[in-house]
Amino acid sequence: MKKLNRRDFLKVSGTSLVGMTLGGVALRANAQEQLSTDDPTAKALQYVHTSAVEGANCDNCMYIQGEAGAEWRPCAIFPGKNVNAKGWCSAWVKKPG
Ligand code: SF4
Repeated sequence: MKKLNRRDFLKVSGTSLVGMTLGGVALRANAQEQLSTDDPTAKALQYVHTSAVEGANCDNCMYIQGEAGAEWRPCAIFPGKNVNAKGWCSAWVKKPG
């Protein structure tokens, strides 16, 4: 018995376009953990909840995010964590304007 059925399986590749649009989405200030001073990055950057540097704190740092006036706010340097508005770390750079 010869079976010469040749089947061409046309593979229709399901090119589902998965848009990788998540890259630039900034995390907002919902239910994020407060940054601990024991966090290795916090330690490395000498982060403190209360700034000892005259005129410099998280509230007037260019890396602060989230809602102005909130006590704990996200910071670009510590993704997924909130820093104290009165805090400070060595990455502090004065917010422009
Ligand atoms: Fe505060 Fe440092 Fe973040 Fe600036 S970079 S907001 S000083 S923790």
